[in-house]
Amino acid sequence: MQQDSTEYEFQQPHLPVDTRVEDLLDRMTTAEKAGQLVGTWAGQLSEFNDVSDVKAAITDHHIGAAATFGWGGSLDTTVDDVVETVNELQTYAVEETRLGIPLLFNVDAVHGHAYVANATVFPNGLGVGATWDTDAAERAANVTASEIRATGAHQNYSPTCDVGRDPRWGRVFETFGESPYLCGELAAAKARGYQGDGIEGDENVIATAKHFPAYSEPERGEDASPVDVSEYKLRNTFVPPFERLLEADVESVMPCYNSINGEPAHSSERYLIDLLRDELGFDGTVVSDWNGIRQLCDEHRTAVDRRDAVHQSRVAGLDLASVGHVGHVEALVALVEDGDLPESVLDASVRRVLEQKFKLGLFEDPYVDADDAADTVGASDHQDVALECARESMTLLQNDDILPLSGDEDVFVAGPNADDLVHQVGGWSVDEEAHVAGDSIRDALADHTTGTVTYERGASMSTTEDVEAAAAKAAEADVAVVAVGENWYLHEFGPEVQSGTKTGEFPTRSELRLPEAQRELVEAIHETGTPTVGVLVTGRPLIVDWMAEHLPAILMAYYPGSRGGTAVAETLFGANEPAGRLPISVPRSPGDLPQHFDHLAHPAPIGADEHPDSYDPLFEFGHGLSYTDFEYADLSVSTDVLDADDEFEVSVTLANVGDRSGTEVVQAYSSALTASHVPRVRRLQAFERVTLDPGEERTVTLSLAAADFSVYHPGDGHTLEDGEYRLRVADETETVTVDDAAL
Ligand code: BGC
Repeated sequence: MQQDSTEYEFQQPHLPVDTRVEDLLDRMTTAEKAGQLVGTWAGQLSEFNDVSDVKAAITDHHIGAAATFGWGGSLDTTVDDVVETVNELQTYAVEETRLGIPLLFNVDAVHGHAYVANATVFPNGLGVGATWDTDAAERAANVTASEIRATGAHQNYSPTCDVGRDPRWGRVFETFGESPYLCGELAAAKARGYQGDGIEGDENVIATAKHFPAYSEPERGEDASPVDVSEYKLRNTFVPPFERLLEADVESVMPCYNSINGEPAHSSERYLIDLLRDELGFDGTVVSDWNGIRQLCDEHRTAVDRRDAVHQSRVAGLDLASVGHVGHVEALVALVEDGDLPESVLDASVRRVLEQKFKLGLFEDPYVDADDAADTVGASDHQDVALECARESMTLLQNDDILPLSGDEDVFVAGPNADDLVHQVGGWSVDEEAHVAGDSIRDALADHTTGTVTYERGASMSTTEDVEAAAAKAAEADVAVVAVGENWYLHEFGPEVQSGTKTGEFPTRSELRLPEAQRELVEAIHETGTPTVGVLVTGRPLIVDWMAEHLPAILMAYYPGSRGGTAVAETLFGANEPAGRLPISVPRSPGDLPQHFDHLAHPAPIGADEHPDSYDPLFEFGHGLSYTDFEYADLSVSTDVLDADDEFEVSVTLANVGDRSGTEVVQAYSSALTASHVPRVRRLQAFERVTLDPGEERTVTLSLAAADFSVYHPGDGHTLEDGEYRLRVADETETVTVDDAAL
């Protein structure tokens, strides 16, 4: 059906992208343009369930994008299936449509291409946050991009730039934690890893910064509920990671589901045009979140019907309704034909979408090779990167001289997360154990001891099983390892959700303690007198006050990915030196929330002796133990007095004074001694992972700029104030003065 011609300018690869885009745009009907701005979600929960539905959407509605990988999808799983589907749909789009425009395939490969069987699965966001390692995050994203591209997809709905400010929120596991700075650095590293030197590269994909501008502090922690946020907090906490991503030239941005101060992000000109495009200078594509447009009329109640919702989102600058519905295409055409939406609005968006397709090289070669995909997905060198990431994320919360184990112990293993790869990989992953190419904690422990390893699960997420058998086996062992925590929910909408033991995209937990059944199991094992190590496999900081009081050691493993079992075992036995640091505070009680290391300065409450400090978590942000000891000395700054444009260096001497090699995360914080607006008590400004041999000492130098002290003041923008700023690294402090800042 495609016009059999190679004369058109858009078909000539040697011509500049702009020329090709304009030529193609000129040839498109209004309906074809509208179709380029809408994608399908093929799978369960969608109106398209199989390949024939998607083909019909291409023919009848000129659909330009498809997401055939993903949860609930019937088209995902094995590499061969995926490649076959993608090639079949691309062939259809290219050969059976008038202009032959290839499809853009988008995926949620947020911690590896984890909806494809046996792909490399990295730790989820919080685990990556715990590595404090931008190089590792970039490598992981780079590997992920190559696996995505090998299976024929082009856009990844990652990285998440949401700042994890509420552990009740089910998606906190996707964040890099509570520090805007740490989130921005790691998200930018992931974007670099996905996009490489540009999406022209055939192993690179479009990165998508999400969910703009403030998703992660919804009321009650309930996903998509309103975010009522001051301009001050919006601009100083939630927007900075996105600004960092735009500096890294991220190609795409996804708005959040929530309303922000009463304005749903998907229809907000204030956020999507004034802020994102005009102020921050973004010129890539804005892609809708799955339900984002429908919600405007059905849930937010700010649009009267779907046509109005489509209209509002387009006026607000939406480019691609990536997982839309066919009614969207028809609504767009009608809006243009009725004179309610200028066709130029469609043209502007089509230009952006086509530009990405040309840059990706889709018009030259939209197909993928099954053998190449099979060699790439889950390749052993990719799995090595996942293992390295998981190792770096391991965060030792407490250790009463029991770890590392010596390697000859009889070990008893228990808990719902000790031998469950689906729990271990966590959210946004395949849900069948057979499709995870990985190793469980239970299996990996057996590789590290010459003693015996016995196992009794003892409890599911929320139900006790044979606790007596678990205790009996524990009593026989030299050490017990209990892997407890949470799983994620997406495929089981059962009673476990209601009882609050699940984590994932939508469920909210108001209870942040371990479920009762798991607590009983831990207590029964502890009561045998066998030294018990708690391993937390979880998507959020759980309140583990009982464990902290009674167990000699606790290891936070997050959702560590396909190689997470090995990383846990290596850490417990000392083959991996723990160097993860908490990217989020672990509270003592849900009543303490919100609780952040960088809260605003404030007076002590009257009667302060009877109240806990305002920041008094069970485990602090940045906390993590090593098997060796580090000492800091001689903090110095390269200059004491700074102009607004000055960059400067902070140096500190770090010494490994223990008898093992180890890795420390050097963290530099600042605080304004006085300011015109109440300052944060501290802000993370720089960090570096440093590995030292026993007895080794090194001067670690971190680069900062005076501008790092600036604060967004509503009405004035980013403002750097004159004054004194204290810098702190561990217990060392120094003061610098900003003088005569150019405001
Ligand atoms: C989530 C996004 C995701 C999208 C597509 C939404 O419900 O909020 O993060 O990228 O689904 O799967």
